[in-house]
Amino acid sequence: MDRVPVAKGVFTWPADPRLIGSRCAACAIVTFPVQDSCPRCAATEMAEHLLPRRGRLWAWTTQEFPPPSPPYAGPTGAAFVPYGVGYVELGEVRVETRLTRTEGLRIGMDMELVLIPFRTDDDGNEVVTFAFRPVDGPGASM
Ligand SMILES: [Zn+2]
Repeated sequence: MDRVPVAKGVFTWPADPRLIGSRCAACAIVTFPVQDSCPRCAATEMAEHLLPRRGRLWAWTTQEFPPPSPPYAGPTGAAFVPYGVGYVELGEVRVETRLTRTEGLRIGMDMELVLIPFRTDDDGNEVVTFAFRPVDGPGASM
């Protein structure tokens, strides 16, 4: 089974996954995902900008039912499993993301980017997407 990213241009992978954002050449605001023009000053010179792998949990909730499709393309019906969603602060930008779990979370805790299986596509490929998980255990104080 091959692994494929859920969308192109969202994260670097498979080694050292990083989210791909953009930075405005005029005012330096950082966006995620990549935008063609700046949401602050409307400049159109946006350069690719890799976001840090680690950040802090800003808010979260549990997605108890499948989101509207499209754009959602994951499991539905009996195959759907509730999952965590939230915002993680990555330096200059807050990113809306899946979370790997919903228990034991607290505002401000350290989180890190991981790639997780999302679904199997029509060609039998494993589609991977990004998520954040709490940084705990040894090495958590980076
Ligand atoms: Zn700008």
